[in-house]
Amino acid sequence: MHRVNRRTFLTTTGLAGIGVGLGLPRLSSEPLFPVVPGERPKQANSVTVLNPYGQVPVSFIIDDSTTLVNMGHFCLPQFAEAWSSTKGAERFDVPWQTWPKEIPDSFVREFGEFCREQGVKGKYSVVPYPACVGWIDRSMPGWSRSQLRDSLKLVREFMMPDWDIHPEMISHTRVIDLKTGRPLPQKSDGSYWMENGGWCEGKSADEIGAYIDYALRILKNVDLPCEGFTTPGGFGNPAMENLEIGGMQALRSVFNVEVPHYFKYVVTGSDESTLPRVELAKGIDRESPDFIVNIPSCTGDWFGPWHGGNPDPMNEVVDRHITADFKQGRMVEVIEKGEPACFLTHWPNMYANGTGQNFKSFQAIVKRINEAYGDRIRWMKLSEIARYWAAKELTAIERSGKAMTFKAPVGAPGFTLEIDAVDGDEMRPHLAAGSSSGSIGMKERYQVSGPLSSGEWRRKEQAIELCIDLPKGTSVLELS
Ligand SMILES: [Zn+2]
Repeated sequence: MHRVNRRTFLTTTGLAGIGVGLGLPRLSSEPLFPVVPGERPKQANSVTVLNPYGQVPVSFIIDDSTTLVNMGHFCLPQFAEAWSSTKGAERFDVPWQTWPKEIPDSFVREFGEFCREQGVKGKYSVVPYPACVGWIDRSMPGWSRSQLRDSLKLVREFMMPDWDIHPEMISHTRVIDLKTGRPLPQKSDGSYWMENGGWCEGKSADEIGAYIDYALRILKNVDLPCEGFTTPGGFGNPAMENLEIGGMQALRSVFNVEVPHYFKYVVTGSDESTLPRVELAKGIDRESPDFIVNIPSCTGDWFGPWHGGNPDPMNEVVDRHITADFKQGRMVEVIEKGEPACFLTHWPNMYANGTGQNFKSFQAIVKRINEAYGDRIRWMKLSEIARYWAAKELTAIERSGKAMTFKAPVGAPGFTLEIDAVDGDEMRPHLAAGSSSGSIGMKERYQVSGPLSSGEWRRKEQAIELCIDLPKGTSVLELS
């Protein structure tokens, strides 16, 4: 339920109809993101790294999902108690008691099957101690152990191939005392420590990292490996840089993640870039450098209020993403710009208390996107986008005569480049990957546009484009 609040307040454009701001107000002096890129390598001027396979990345981000528990039903009373006096009681005046306690596995399967059929990939949160109802690695009161096991198995075996799993901190409601596993006591003024905001203020990277570490370990206990995390609400504000350092440390220490990433920000302004940020890069010549990739969403949750109690009308929701003539909508705007287009919802909202309304809106959006763009886009998990951007930003590219040398701290499939001709040279590339694996020939493709497969290249005016599976470490591309 981070949705709107901490996210929309970070943007310059208002989100009419979604102003459920539960986060902390952004000071005007605060940057949109932490912007601490760190080290960057030299990259030859005559080379441009393009999108993966020459396709625009598209991804679907799902927040507030977990096993079985409907976070809409269980979070609402806790949010209402914590924020009614400061944020306005009317905001929480929804009949949560009447909403189902469960989002059934049958819905996870139905959703996942549609996505598989359409090629959709993305991120699916699994909150480890959802709204303090129960621990996914112990027991979930209200459900049997075998129901919990089955639900975890569904996520692990059915969802994970196409979806990154993220923790969304520990409970998504109360801040947990890591020593006792119990929610922190109320503050002296009667208010609560909530994960959505406030707790991180003044905390060190180590303290924030320990909190994320705790969440990750619960997912590790049930064999759900993660390469990233999602912040609930304003978690991490205003310690945005410490969130990145602590998050990187936690992902490395629990899962030894090569390319750590996270999701926190929403970027909805037409003039704002949705490019992933490779942050805090350090030691890029080393075997495993430090860095973390911040991947923003290009929409808020535009399906209606996060809890799914009253979805917005279908035609409005769908058109806001992509209109029937494929000419307008935020997804169109971002894809046409050639930047990654990640869009967002919350799992209780997708379920919409079993009415199916937002699932229908989602299906319509996906079908329009796929029909409009076909192979101009590529559905990717956030971890795949993170890996590509890490390689794009952190690979040293040196050109000397007919040879180009790459020093890549991480490998990336579908690494796609445009190489300008120098002095009108005739280029026929082949890849000599490392010193041991020998030379790999490349196949010329004669279509002037469209995606490239790995191992293909084509001529452009005064340039060539090519696509390789970039190996980690040093590799050489020969241009004749
Ligand atoms: Zn959330």
